[in-house]
Amino acid sequence: MIGILGGGQLGRMTVIAAARLGYRCHVFCQSPDEPAAQIATRSTVAPFTDTNALDRFAADVDVVTLEFENIPLASLEHLAPQIAVRPNAAALAVAQDRIKEKDFITAAGIATAPYRAINGPAELRAALAELGTPAILKTARLGYDGKGQVRLDADTDPDTAWGQSGAGDATGGAVLEGFVDFEREISVIAARGADGAATSYVPVENRHANHILDQTIVPAPISNALAATATDIAHRLIADLQMVGVLAVEMFVSTDGNILVNEIAPRPHNSGHWTIDACAVSQFELLVRAVCGLPLGSTERDADAIMKNLIGDAADDWQTYLGDPAARLHLYGKAETRPGRKMGHVTWLAPRKQS
Ligand code: AMP
Repeated sequence: MIGILGGGQLGRMTVIAAARLGYRCHVFCQSPDEPAAQIATRSTVAPFTDTNALDRFAADVDVVTLEFENIPLASLEHLAPQIAVRPNAAALAVAQDRIKEKDFITAAGIATAPYRAINGPAELRAALAELGTPAILKTARLGYDGKGQVRLDADTDPDTAWGQSGAGDATGGAVLEGFVDFEREISVIAARGADGAATSYVPVENRHANHILDQTIVPAPISNALAATATDIAHRLIADLQMVGVLAVEMFVSTDGNILVNEIAPRPHNSGHWTIDACAVSQFELLVRAVCGLPLGSTERDADAIMKNLIGDAADDWQTYLGDPAARLHLYGKAETRPGRKMGHVTWLAPRKQS
């Protein structure tokens, strides 16, 4: 029995991959209708801070993993003495806080956008004087899909931007990042087993619309040298984090040809959904293999691919995709469509053109 903290679509696809290998899953989530809870063998519906529920969950499972990086650290620390928690709480701590994350990446000798930790409008003014504009102010914690982010240009009033970011009300402050003039955004998904063996998928390109991933293009159309650098960065980070599980590393390829890490996620990632249809071992199966101490298997792809997210009412066109013989449709079972909500995705495969 694999315990999964979080009940979203990443958990759902992990449950499916686990079932294929004969495993059962127990999902710990916030509502019985969450995508993963719908199909798991068992679910616990309780706040992540409910230690009694965590204890019962730990007693029922053989290993705990997660599909959502904002699980309270205290919950993982509560579980860790009782049951193997993969990835570890320390890796999660780094990924949960943009300042810790950038400090960690920098300490590993890997480039990020220039950044400053900010705790108020006065520090914001000082950091703007150093980094210049355009720049992006992000809350240090709990931001995703562009939430909690404000772009500052030369004519932006820093006090207004500080207010808009919501950082004043958020715990953990904010970070100001210099704007990266990027040619494209890419990601690498890596995995590491309990024995330290690591593997990764080919770097992919990610195109965003309204700050949300819209399309992933496989492979990223970048040189072999850049692909090797991106892959090496992902392997260094997963080793440094001593993580057992799956790590997604999002990166910018700057217009001057450098790679800068934007952020990391210690879990399967939207930019790896194509692996379900194009690889012998998907990112979800890779997570199952890693946390269960199994051989990681092959991350080679059988085909090139394009993955498109179905966001909000774009999912209403699902029957069109069923009518497209080349489209592989995945719907997450979310009862309610909301703008910006990830409802499903479609993958198209094409014969593999390059190594
Ligand atoms: P994030 O939530 O940090 O992944 O940011 C969401 C998106 O905003 C990224 O995928 C980029 O498209 C854009 N973005 C974030 N940070 C920067 C930056 N420092 N420079 C340029 N674009 C950025």
